[in-house]
Amino acid sequence: MAENYQPPGDAANPFGARRYKAWNEHVKQRYGARVQKVSVEAGFSCPNRDGRVATGGCTFCNNDGFTPLYLQRRQSVTQQIDAGLSFLQRRYPGTNRFIAYFQSYSNTYGELQRLRSLYQEALAHPQISGLAIGTRPDCLGQPVLQYLAELSREHIIELEIGVESCNDEVLSSVNRGHDFAASADAIARAAALGLDVTAHMLLGLPGESRASMLDGARKLSALPIRALKLHQLQLVRGTALARQWQSDPASVPLFDEQECIALLCDFIERLAPHILLQRVGSEVPPSMKLAPEWNMRLSELAPRISAELARRGSWQGSHYASLQI
Ligand code: SF4
Repeated sequence: MAENYQPPGDAANPFGARRYKAWNEHVKQRYGARVQKVSVEAGFSCPNRDGRVATGGCTFCNNDGFTPLYLQRRQSVTQQIDAGLSFLQRRYPGTNRFIAYFQSYSNTYGELQRLRSLYQEALAHPQISGLAIGTRPDCLGQPVLQYLAELSREHIIELEIGVESCNDEVLSSVNRGHDFAASADAIARAAALGLDVTAHMLLGLPGESRASMLDGARKLSALPIRALKLHQLQLVRGTALARQWQSDPASVPLFDEQECIALLCDFIERLAPHILLQRVGSEVPPSMKLAPEWNMRLSELAPRISAELARRGSWQGSHYASLQI
C-alpha cells in the first residue's frame, strides 16, 4: 500500500447510508422484488467427508448448524419446496419470487445425471424461478459448469463456492482438502461461462492473522466474483474445532462483537466496490452454538457495520484503490 494514501472525502461514498454494496438492494433493482431462497436438502455428501479427498470434513463443519428447521430430509425436492414455501410465505408475507437453495454439503458432488434430475425437479416447481447451489471448488468439473451455464440462460442461477480462507496453511489446518488456487480456478472457469459466483469466506479460523484476512479482501477482489458471503467463526457443537476449543481455548481465539465489527469494516474498506455483499455475518442456532456468546443478534450486525463505517468516514472499497498501487 502507498504509505501516504488518503481515502477520498466522505462525499465520494457511492453507497448511501449502508456504505457497502448490499445484495438485497441489487436483487430488488434487478428483479423488481425480493427473491427468497427456499432451502432444499438433497442428500449430498462431500469429498472430504467420504474419503475421496479426506475424512472427517472441515474442522468447523456440522451442517446441522446451517440447516433450516423446516427441512425434512426424507422428503422429495418438491415436498421440501412446498414445506419451505408455506413457512417462508408466513414469515415474509408479500414475497412471491423464490429460488431453491441447495445448501447443505457439496451440491454438485455427484453424477451429472443425478444433478440434472434434482435441479430439474426444483425448476419444474411453478413457484421456483431459479437455483442457488452451494459447493466446493473441487466439485466443479467442466460438464457441471457447462450444464449450469445452460440453465442460467433461462433461470436465475447463483453458484456459491466455499473459499473460506485465502491462506493455504489455514485451509490445510482446518482439513479443507483444497487450496486457494483451486478456488481461484473454479471461480475463473465458472465466470468464463457467464455464471454469477458468490464466494463464501469464514473469518477468524485458527492460524489466520488479521493481516492475512485483510489480504484475503485483496485476493478476492482480483477474482471474477459477483458477490461475497462473509461468516465469522462460531463453534458448532459436534465439530473438531469445538472439541479443540474445549480442550485448549487459547488455540481457537474468537471475536467479540467489537472485534468482529472492526475487522469486517477493515475488510469491507479493502474489498473492490463492485462486489455485492450478500452476507456480512451468520448465526448458528443457539442450540447448536458453543461459542462465542454475543450480546448482539445477527440483525444488528449490518447496521452497526454501517454506523462504524460512517464514524470512520469510509465505505466499501475506500481503501481498495490504495492496494492496487
Ligand atoms: S464445510 Fe462443506 S466442504 Fe467442509 S466438510 Fe462441511 S460440507 Fe464438506
